[in-house]
Amino acid sequence: MVKFKKYSETVEFHSPKNQFKKTKINLEIREDPLTGFRSIINEYLVNKRGLLYPDTDYEYLDYIGDRSKKFCFMCDHRLEKMTPYYPEDFLEQGRLKYQDAVLFPNLYPLSKFHAVIRLTSDHFKKLGEINSKMVFNGLKLAFDFLKKSFDYDKRYNYPTINANFMFPSGASATHPHFQIMNFLVPSTFHQLLLDRSKEYYEKYGSCYFIDLIKKEKELNKRYIGEIGDGVWISAYSPMGRNEVQIIWPKKENFFHFTEKDIKDLSEGLEKLFIYFHSKKISTYNFSLLSGPLNEKAPYFRCIMKIVNRQNVVKHHRTDDYFLQKILKNELSEITPEDLAKEIREIF
Ligand SMILES: [Zn+2]
Repeated sequence: MVKFKKYSETVEFHSPKNQFKKTKINLEIREDPLTGFRSIINEYLVNKRGLLYPDTDYEYLDYIGDRSKKFCFMCDHRLEKMTPYYPEDFLEQGRLKYQDAVLFPNLYPLSKFHAVIRLTSDHFKKLGEINSKMVFNGLKLAFDFLKKSFDYDKRYNYPTINANFMFPSGASATHPHFQIMNFLVPSTFHQLLLDRSKEYYEKYGSCYFIDLIKKEKELNKRYIGEIGDGVWISAYSPMGRNEVQIIWPKKENFFHFTEKDIKDLSEGLEKLFIYFHSKKISTYNFSLLSGPLNEKAPYFRCIMKIVNRQNVVKHHRTDDYFLQKILKNELSEITPEDLAKEIREIF
């Protein structure tokens, strides 16, 4: 069954920030019920937020927007000349288009089916300006491409839809875009979710993701809300800053997504981006994962994870250090319960 494990401890020292009086700091080490991934919640870190996650420098962000426009390959007048297109036997048109969203192959692919989707013809958008229409256009192409890739080669049945937004999140292009990958061998994390949820199903005879939703709704601490079939929850043990996860209890894989589901997701993301922007946050990563396309997977449900990264500031410090990169623990300066409470207000 779904268990929210945690360990607590207290640190004591004489703090220069408190006239060297004895100071107590409470830590909570949490464990994700499925993967076991641990995170450390330390609310005292809120005092270090200026160093950990300084607010976005919007003047600098505008400068980045202007500068990157001069050589952007996703802007209209360069896209046709500077981006690759697929061979005719796979995609007759070479590139896929929907309104002003365009899909083309990644010039430096990491899978046989690895595409980039330009969301809009506008070169530069701040996080709070990415609207549901742009997201919808991009996601529509993503689902279409993933279906085509599976039809073309049925060995590729681990599809994902991903995004980096702004350079501190890993994006090498500023122009708003998504990255679509269909894998022959699933990513390490995707495999872990599939394996653990299958073990859970065999042990308890029920689907972990459905049990998780039920439990989170009962507790009503991290449950944010629902839009259509998607259930929005803040992660008990986050893998990144401000992690929100969206789970679709009726969808084992991407083939079950309708146009209405894509629209609902796009509307939810617009709301979430507005919330992030209101906190002077300028970056995110997300991944949306599917169950395998070539078999029934009653143990799995489609899940999306979205996290913030370091904000756009001059000489930014990475938010991944030994703790995340090697030890695979995350830290958080706010509790997932407080995060859910704040996001719920804009839902
Ligand atoms: Zn551009």
